[in-house]
Amino acid sequence: IITLSIETSCDETSVSILKNGRYILSNIIASQIDQHQKFGGVVPEVASRKHIENINQVIDRALSEAKVTFDDITHVAATYGPGLVGALLVGLSAAKAISFALGIPLNGVNHIEGHIYANFIEDPTLKPPFICLVVSGGHTHLVLMKDYGSYEVLGRTRDDAAGEAFDKVGRALGLNYPGGPEIDRLSKEGDKNAINFPRAFLEEGSYDFSFSGLKSAVLNYLNSKRMKEETIDIADVAASFQEAVIDVLTEKTISCAKEMGIKTVCLAGGVAANSGLRELFIKRCQNENITFKYPSIKLCTDNAAMIGCVGYYDYIKGLESHLDINAIPNLKLGERY
Ligand code: ATP
Ligand code: MG
Ligand code: FE
Repeated sequence: IITLSIETSCDETSVSILKNGRYILSNIIASQIDQHQKFGGVVPEVASRKHIENINQVIDRALSEAKVTFDDITHVAATYGPGLVGALLVGLSAAKAISFALGIPLNGVNHIEGHIYANFIEDPTLKPPFICLVVSGGHTHLVLMKDYGSYEVLGRTRDDAAGEAFDKVGRALGLNYPGGPEIDRLSKEGDKNAINFPRAFLEEGSYDFSFSGLKSAVLNYLNSKRMKEETIDIADVAASFQEAVIDVLTEKTISCAKEMGIKTVCLAGGVAANSGLRELFIKRCQNENITFKYPSIKLCTDNAAMIGCVGYYDYIKGLESHLDINAIPNLKLGERY
Protein backbone atom coordinates (compact mmCIF):
# COMPACT_ATOMS: atom_id res chain seq x y z
CA ILE A 1 0.00 0.00 0.00
CA ILE A 2 1.33 3.43 -0.98
CA THR A 3 -0.31 6.17 1.10
CA LEU A 4 -0.37 9.87 0.27
CA SER A 5 -1.11 11.77 3.48
CA ILE A 6 -1.88 15.42 4.12
CA GLU A 7 -1.59 17.53 7.29
CA THR A 8 -2.90 21.12 7.41
CA SER A 9 -4.34 21.47 10.93
CA CYS A 10 -2.31 24.53 11.92
CA ASP A 11 0.48 26.41 10.17
CA GLU A 12 2.39 23.59 8.47
CA THR A 13 1.40 22.42 4.99
CA SER A 14 2.74 18.88 4.91
CA VAL A 15 2.42 15.97 2.49
CA SER A 16 4.03 12.57 2.87
CA ILE A 17 4.25 9.38 0.82
CA LEU A 18 4.53 6.18 2.87
CA LYS A 19 5.00 2.55 1.99
CA ASN A 20 3.00 0.20 4.21
CA GLY A 21 2.41 2.87 6.84
CA ARG A 22 5.76 2.91 8.59
CA TYR A 23 8.30 3.48 5.81
CA ILE A 24 8.68 7.12 4.69
CA LEU A 25 9.34 7.74 0.98
CA SER A 26 8.95 11.51 1.43
CA ASN A 27 7.73 13.90 4.13
CA ILE A 28 7.60 17.50 2.92
CA ILE A 29 6.86 20.21 5.49
CA ALA A 30 6.22 23.77 4.33
CA SER A 31 6.15 25.93 7.44
CA GLN A 32 4.38 29.29 7.45
CA ILE A 33 6.09 30.46 10.65
CA ASP A 34 7.63 33.57 9.07
CA GLN A 35 4.13 34.62 7.91
CA HIS A 36 2.77 34.50 11.46
CA GLN A 37 5.81 35.66 13.46
CA LYS A 38 5.02 39.36 13.16
CA PHE A 39 1.65 38.69 14.83
CA GLY A 40 3.22 36.65 17.67
CA GLY A 41 1.03 33.63 16.91
CA VAL A 42 -0.90 31.82 14.18
CA VAL A 43 -3.57 33.93 12.40
CA PRO A 44 -6.24 31.45 11.23
CA GLU A 45 -7.26 33.30 8.04
CA VAL A 46 -3.65 33.71 6.98
CA ALA A 47 -3.02 30.01 7.65
CA SER A 48 -5.94 28.88 5.44
CA ARG A 49 -4.92 31.17 2.60
CA LYS A 50 -1.29 29.99 2.73
CA HIS A 51 -2.38 26.32 2.76
CA ILE A 52 -4.41 26.96 -0.42
CA GLU A 53 -1.41 28.62 -2.07
CA ASN A 54 0.97 25.82 -1.02
CA ILE A 55 -0.96 22.57 -1.15
CA ASN A 56 -0.56 21.62 -4.82
CA GLN A 57 3.14 22.43 -4.85
CA VAL A 58 3.74 20.45 -1.67
CA ILE A 59 1.87 17.45 -3.12
CA ASP A 60 4.01 17.65 -6.27
CA ARG A 61 7.21 17.85 -4.23
CA ALA A 62 6.18 14.87 -2.08
CA LEU A 63 5.47 12.78 -5.19
CA SER A 64 8.69 13.72 -6.95
CA GLU A 65 10.89 13.24 -3.88
CA ALA A 66 9.33 9.79 -3.37
CA LYS A 67 9.89 9.10 -7.09
CA VAL A 68 6.26 8.10 -7.61
CA THR A 69 3.31 9.48 -9.58
CA PHE A 70 -0.43 9.63 -8.77
CA ASP A 71 -0.77 6.26 -10.57
CA ASP A 72 1.30 4.61 -7.81
CA ILE A 73 -0.83 5.95 -4.95
CA THR A 74 -3.29 3.39 -3.58
CA HIS A 75 -4.59 5.13 -0.45
CA VAL A 76 -5.11 8.70 0.88
CA ALA A 77 -5.18 10.04 4.44
CA ALA A 78 -5.70 13.54 5.84
CA THR A 79 -6.10 15.21 9.23
CA TYR A 80 -9.77 16.13 9.90
CA GLY A 81 -9.32 17.41 13.48
CA PRO A 82 -8.52 18.80 15.94
CA GLY A 83 -7.22 22.09 14.56
CA LEU A 84 -8.23 25.31 12.81
CA VAL A 85 -11.32 24.55 10.77
CA GLY A 86 -10.37 26.65 7.72
CA ALA A 87 -6.88 25.14 7.71
CA LEU A 88 -8.12 21.55 8.11
CA LEU A 89 -10.57 21.98 5.23
CA VAL A 90 -7.80 22.72 2.74
CA GLY A 91 -5.94 19.44 3.29
CA LEU A 92 -9.10 17.39 3.75
CA SER A 93 -10.62 18.74 0.52
CA ALA A 94 -7.44 18.00 -1.41
CA ALA A 95 -7.44 14.44 -0.04
CA LYS A 96 -11.10 13.96 -1.00
CA ALA A 97 -10.38 15.21 -4.53
CA ILE A 98 -7.49 12.74 -4.88
CA SER A 99 -9.56 9.88 -3.46
CA PHE A 100 -12.45 10.64 -5.83
CA ALA A 101 -10.32 11.23 -8.93
CA LEU A 102 -8.20 8.09 -8.47
CA GLY A 103 -10.99 5.96 -7.04
CA ILE A 104 -8.91 5.01 -3.98
CA PRO A 105 -9.84 4.75 -0.28
CA LEU A 106 -9.67 7.72 2.10
CA ASN A 107 -9.04 7.80 5.85
CA GLY A 108 -9.63 10.89 7.97
CA VAL A 109 -7.12 11.02 10.83
CA ASN A 110 -7.07 12.53 14.32
CA HIS A 111 -4.05 14.86 14.57
CA ILE A 112 -3.24 13.88 18.17
CA GLU A 113 -3.37 10.19 17.27
CA GLY A 114 -0.91 11.14 14.52
CA HIS A 115 1.50 12.61 17.08
CA ILE A 116 1.38 9.32 19.03
CA TYR A 117 1.93 7.22 15.86
CA ALA A 118 5.14 9.13 15.08
CA ASN A 119 6.62 6.65 17.57
CA PHE A 120 5.68 3.70 15.32
CA ILE A 121 7.50 5.27 12.38
CA GLU A 122 10.55 5.90 14.52
CA ASP A 123 10.64 2.36 15.91
CA PRO A 124 8.98 -0.30 13.72
CA THR A 125 9.21 -2.83 16.57
CA LEU A 126 7.12 -0.71 18.97
CA LYS A 127 3.74 -2.21 19.94
CA PRO A 128 0.99 -1.15 22.36
CA PRO A 129 0.35 -1.14 25.26
CA PHE A 130 2.39 1.85 26.41
CA ILE A 131 1.96 5.15 28.23
CA CYS A 132 2.34 8.17 25.94
CA LEU A 133 2.85 11.73 27.13
CA VAL A 134 1.38 13.96 24.41
CA VAL A 135 2.75 17.49 24.77
CA SER A 136 1.97 19.86 21.91
CA GLY A 137 0.93 23.41 21.17
CA GLY A 138 -2.71 22.79 22.06
CA HIS A 139 -2.73 19.55 24.09
CA THR A 140 -1.21 17.96 27.17
CA HIS A 141 -2.50 14.42 27.61
CA LEU A 142 -1.22 11.45 29.53
CA VAL A 143 -2.55 8.56 27.46
CA LEU A 144 -2.63 4.80 27.94
CA MET A 145 -2.55 3.33 24.44
CA LYS A 146 -4.11 -0.08 25.00
CA ASP A 147 -4.16 -1.21 21.38
CA TYR A 148 -4.09 0.37 17.90
CA GLY A 149 -6.90 2.95 17.95
CA SER A 150 -7.77 2.30 21.61
CA TYR A 151 -6.93 4.98 24.17
CA GLU A 152 -7.59 5.93 27.73
CA VAL A 153 -6.77 9.53 28.64
CA LEU A 154 -5.51 9.26 32.24
CA GLY A 155 -4.66 12.92 32.71
CA ARG A 156 -4.88 16.23 30.88
CA THR A 157 -4.10 19.88 31.42
CA ARG A 158 -6.62 21.91 33.38
CA ASP A 159 -5.52 25.17 31.76
CA ASP A 160 -2.65 25.87 29.35
CA ALA A 161 -1.07 23.19 27.18
CA ALA A 162 2.65 22.64 27.73
CA GLY A 163 3.56 24.15 24.34
CA GLU A 164 1.25 27.09 24.98
CA ALA A 165 3.09 27.75 28.28
CA PHE A 166 6.44 27.70 26.46
CA ASP A 167 5.11 30.09 23.82
CA LYS A 168 3.55 32.53 26.33
CA VAL A 169 6.66 32.62 28.51
CA GLY A 170 8.75 33.00 25.34
CA ARG A 171 6.70 36.04 24.41
CA ALA A 172 7.14 37.53 27.91
CA LEU A 173 10.90 37.05 27.53
CA GLY A 174 10.79 38.89 24.20
CA LEU A 175 11.63 35.81 22.13
CA ASN A 176 10.38 35.00 18.64
CA TYR A 177 7.27 32.87 18.07
CA PRO A 178 7.15 29.97 18.74
CA GLY A 179 8.90 30.30 22.09
CA GLY A 180 9.45 26.57 22.70
CA PRO A 181 12.55 26.02 20.55
CA GLU A 182 13.99 29.39 21.67
CA ILE A 183 13.60 28.56 25.37
CA ASP A 184 15.15 25.14 24.72
CA ARG A 185 18.17 26.81 23.11
CA LEU A 186 18.52 29.53 25.81
CA SER A 187 18.18 27.01 28.63
CA LYS A 188 21.49 25.46 27.66
CA GLU A 189 23.19 28.76 28.57
CA GLY A 190 21.26 29.30 31.80
CA ASP A 191 21.19 27.88 35.33
CA LYS A 192 18.12 25.71 35.87
CA ASN A 193 18.41 26.14 39.65
CA ALA A 194 18.65 29.95 39.51
CA ILE A 195 14.97 30.56 40.30
CA ASN A 196 12.71 28.14 42.13
CA PHE A 197 9.47 28.36 40.11
CA PRO A 198 6.42 26.44 41.42
CA ARG A 199 5.64 22.88 40.32
CA ALA A 200 1.93 22.04 40.17
CA PHE A 201 1.64 18.38 41.15
CA LEU A 202 -2.05 18.88 42.10
CA GLU A 203 -3.89 16.40 44.35
CA GLU A 204 -2.24 13.17 45.42
CA GLY A 205 -2.70 10.56 42.68
CA SER A 206 -3.92 13.02 40.02
CA TYR A 207 -2.40 12.72 36.55
CA ASP A 208 -3.74 16.11 35.47
CA PHE A 209 -1.46 19.04 34.71
CA SER A 210 -1.62 22.78 35.28
CA PHE A 211 0.77 25.36 33.85
CA SER A 212 -1.04 28.67 34.36
CA GLY A 213 0.32 29.13 37.90
CA LEU A 214 3.86 28.61 36.67
CA LYS A 215 3.27 31.03 33.81
CA SER A 216 1.99 33.68 36.26
CA ALA A 217 4.98 33.08 38.54
CA VAL A 218 7.34 33.78 35.62
CA LEU A 219 5.39 36.93 34.65
CA ASN A 220 5.41 38.15 38.27
CA TYR A 221 9.13 37.49 38.55
CA LEU A 222 9.81 39.50 35.37
CA ASN A 223 7.51 42.37 36.44
CA SER A 224 9.01 42.72 39.89
CA LYS A 225 12.54 42.67 38.47
CA ARG A 226 11.58 45.32 35.93
CA MET A 227 9.92 47.48 38.59
CA LYS A 228 13.02 47.37 40.72
CA GLU A 229 15.04 48.06 37.58
CA GLU A 230 17.15 44.99 38.29
CA THR A 231 18.80 43.15 35.42
CA ILE A 232 17.16 39.95 34.26
CA ASP A 233 19.20 36.99 33.09
CA ILE A 234 16.77 35.61 30.53
CA ALA A 235 18.80 32.43 30.08
CA ASP A 236 18.38 31.70 33.80
CA VAL A 237 14.64 32.42 33.63
CA ALA A 238 14.28 30.19 30.55
CA ALA A 239 16.27 27.35 32.14
CA SER A 240 14.41 27.57 35.48
CA PHE A 241 11.01 27.70 33.76
CA GLN A 242 11.85 24.76 31.49
CA GLU A 243 13.08 22.74 34.46
CA ALA A 244 9.80 23.34 36.33
CA VAL A 245 7.79 22.13 33.30
CA ILE A 246 9.85 19.04 32.52
CA ASP A 247 10.14 18.06 36.19
CA VAL A 248 6.34 17.72 36.54
CA LEU A 249 5.87 16.11 33.10
CA THR A 250 8.51 13.47 33.81
CA GLU A 251 7.54 12.64 37.39
CA LYS A 252 3.82 12.30 36.60
CA THR A 253 4.41 10.13 33.55
CA ILE A 254 6.79 7.79 35.34
CA SER A 255 4.66 7.41 38.44
CA CYS A 256 1.66 6.71 36.19
CA ALA A 257 3.56 4.00 34.28
CA LYS A 258 4.68 2.40 37.56
CA GLU A 259 1.17 2.53 39.00
CA MET A 260 -0.33 0.95 35.88
CA GLY A 261 2.44 -1.64 35.63
CA ILE A 262 3.36 -0.51 32.09
CA LYS A 263 7.00 -0.96 31.11
CA THR A 264 7.15 1.30 28.02
CA VAL A 265 6.80 5.09 27.90
CA CYS A 266 6.69 7.27 24.76
CA LEU A 267 6.73 11.01 24.06
CA ALA A 268 4.71 12.76 21.35
CA GLY A 269 3.96 16.29 20.07
CA GLY A 270 6.01 19.42 19.46
CA VAL A 271 7.26 19.78 23.04
CA ALA A 272 8.66 16.23 22.79
CA ALA A 273 11.38 17.90 20.69
CA ASN A 274 12.62 19.63 23.88
CA SER A 275 16.16 18.49 24.60
CA GLY A 276 15.85 18.90 28.38
CA LEU A 277 12.67 16.82 28.46
CA ARG A 278 14.25 14.05 26.39
CA GLU A 279 17.37 13.96 28.57
CA LEU A 280 15.42 13.87 31.82
CA PHE A 281 13.18 11.07 30.55
CA ILE A 282 16.20 9.05 29.41
CA LYS A 283 17.78 9.39 32.86
CA ARG A 284 14.65 8.73 34.91
CA CYS A 285 13.48 5.79 32.78
CA GLN A 286 16.91 4.19 33.03
CA ASN A 287 16.71 4.39 36.83
CA GLU A 288 13.22 2.89 36.84
CA ASN A 289 13.93 0.16 34.27
CA ILE A 290 11.32 1.56 31.88
CA THR A 291 11.79 1.37 28.11
CA PHE A 292 11.66 4.91 26.74
CA LYS A 293 10.86 5.84 23.11
CA TYR A 294 10.65 9.21 21.41
CA PRO A 295 10.35 10.38 17.81
CA SER A 296 13.14 12.22 15.98
CA ILE A 297 12.66 16.01 16.06
CA LYS A 298 11.14 16.18 12.57
CA LEU A 299 8.49 13.64 13.57
CA CYS A 300 7.66 15.44 16.86
CA THR A 301 6.38 18.65 15.30
CA ASP A 302 3.56 18.69 12.76
CA ASN A 303 4.17 16.48 9.72
CA ALA A 304 2.09 14.37 7.33
CA ALA A 305 4.04 11.11 7.78
CA MET A 306 2.54 10.54 11.23
CA ILE A 307 -0.93 11.13 9.75
CA GLY A 308 -0.32 8.59 6.98
CA CYS A 309 0.78 6.04 9.56
CA VAL A 310 -2.56 6.30 11.44
CA GLY A 311 -4.48 6.23 8.15
CA TYR A 312 -2.67 3.06 7.11
CA TYR A 313 -3.43 1.20 10.36
CA ASP A 314 -7.07 2.30 10.24
CA TYR A 315 -7.34 1.15 6.64
CA ILE A 316 -5.86 -2.31 7.17
CA LYS A 317 -8.24 -2.68 10.12
CA GLY A 318 -11.10 -2.21 7.63
CA LEU A 319 -11.97 1.41 8.45
CA GLU A 320 -12.61 3.92 5.67
CA SER A 321 -13.97 7.48 5.60
CA HIS A 322 -16.75 8.64 3.29
CA LEU A 323 -16.37 11.61 0.98
CA ASP A 324 -18.80 13.60 3.16
CA ILE A 325 -16.40 13.54 6.13
CA ASN A 326 -16.15 17.04 7.62
CA ALA A 327 -13.41 18.90 9.49
CA ILE A 328 -13.96 18.75 13.27
CA PRO A 329 -12.02 21.51 15.08
CA ASN A 330 -12.42 19.98 18.58
CA LEU A 331 -12.19 16.26 17.71
CA LYS A 332 -11.36 14.18 20.80
CA LEU A 333 -8.83 11.35 20.95
CA GLY A 334 -10.59 8.03 20.33
CA GLU A 335 -13.71 9.67 18.80
CA ARG A 336 -14.57 8.73 15.22
CA TYR A 337 -16.87 10.19 12.58
P1 ATP B 1 -1.66 20.42 18.53
O1 ATP B 1 -0.79 19.32 18.06
O2 ATP B 1 -1.97 20.35 19.99
O3 ATP B 1 -2.88 20.60 17.68
P2 ATP B 1 0.23 22.13 17.26
O4 ATP B 1 0.07 21.16 16.15
O5 ATP B 1 0.19 23.58 16.99
O6 ATP B 1 -0.84 21.79 18.39
P3 ATP B 1 2.79 20.97 17.58
O7 ATP B 1 3.24 21.27 16.21
O8 ATP B 1 2.60 19.58 17.94
O9 ATP B 1 1.55 21.83 18.05
O10 ATP B 1 3.86 21.60 18.54
C1 ATP B 1 4.14 22.97 18.49
C2 ATP B 1 4.50 23.37 19.90
O11 ATP B 1 5.70 22.70 20.28
C3 ATP B 1 4.75 24.85 20.07
O12 ATP B 1 4.10 25.27 21.25
C4 ATP B 1 6.26 24.93 20.23
O13 ATP B 1 6.70 26.00 21.03
C5 ATP B 1 6.57 23.62 20.90
N1 ATP B 1 7.95 23.21 20.69
C6 ATP B 1 8.57 22.89 19.52
N2 ATP B 1 9.87 22.60 19.73
C7 ATP B 1 10.09 22.73 21.07
C8 ATP B 1 11.22 22.57 21.93
N3 ATP B 1 12.41 22.23 21.44
N4 ATP B 1 11.04 22.80 23.25
C9 ATP B 1 9.83 23.13 23.75
N5 ATP B 1 8.75 23.32 23.00
C10 ATP B 1 8.86 23.11 21.68
MG1 MG C 1 3.00 24.49 13.84
FE1 FE D 1 0.46 19.12 16.39
